[in-house]
Amino acid sequence: MPVGTYGTVKGMTPPDLRELGTHMVLSNTLHLWVRPGDELIRDLGGLHTFMGWDGPILTDSGGYQVFSLRDMSKVTEEGVRFRTPKDGQYRTMTPERCIRIQENLGVDLAMAFDECIEWPADRERVIRSTERTTRWLKRCMAARRHPERTALLGIVQGGFYPDLRAAHAQEIVELDLDAYAIGGLSVGAATVKKHAMVDASAKLLPANKVRYLMGVGYPLDIVEAVIRGVDLFDCVLPTRNARNGTVFTSVGRINIKHARYRADPSPLDPGCSCYTCRSFSRA
Ligand SMILES: [Zn+2]
Repeated sequence: MPVGTYGTVKGMTPPDLRELGTHMVLSNTLHLWVRPGDELIRDLGGLHTFMGWDGPILTDSGGYQVFSLRDMSKVTEEGVRFRTPKDGQYRTMTPERCIRIQENLGVDLAMAFDECIEWPADRERVIRSTERTTRWLKRCMAARRHPERTALLGIVQGGFYPDLRAAHAQEIVELDLDAYAIGGLSVGAATVKKHAMVDASAKLLPANKVRYLMGVGYPLDIVEAVIRGVDLFDCVLPTRNARNGTVFTSVGRINIKHARYRADPSPLDPGCSCYTCRSFSRA
């Protein structure tokens, strides 16, 4: 899924996404709540109408974004109180509110509100946080008013402890959710450790339900995770890198700003038939 945090994938129109073979896009609960507001989007016909996209939409819950505010947020059992840099206002995100926002947006797949913690974190802290994530997941389930329209995904946490990952996966599989996600791995740990955690999580999730690895997007990481049973990915990387001049091609990564491409008449990717590669040279 390309990432359209504020209801648009930066630099791309919905037809652009279609032409590239995009099936589903991701947007963000927290950001749309702050601006322009989930009730406004609901009143204007829902997020599909608002962003001009009639395919499936998944919204991230905002747990990760609150987490990245760190010193501007405070976690309690009730939820997370935080101050948005955009308008300086205090808000509290709770599991109930997170579900209400996503149902107001009318998305196809909603993420449960989970606690994201720093890396590295010690075992005791990870245990406490994972237990809270499970309690919040149950509150999310109880808060649903439109389960026929918006599916709910539970998120496997457990830090970088394979046994905690496995235990949490088993625990939330028993709750019989519509689909499952693997969270907490888009942090600064070594790639090989992340693959081991995907392994510990994915193999315990039901194969007949979608398995989604959150925030992972390097081509090789995607292949490694598909091998381990993951179906769905999101990452800002493809569009963010492109805006900065980095392009993933069939022959590897290139930086188009490099002097060696200054007079190069060949396409970005000789093996690609997309509009850009058909129409423009590297120069
Ligand atoms: Zn292309």
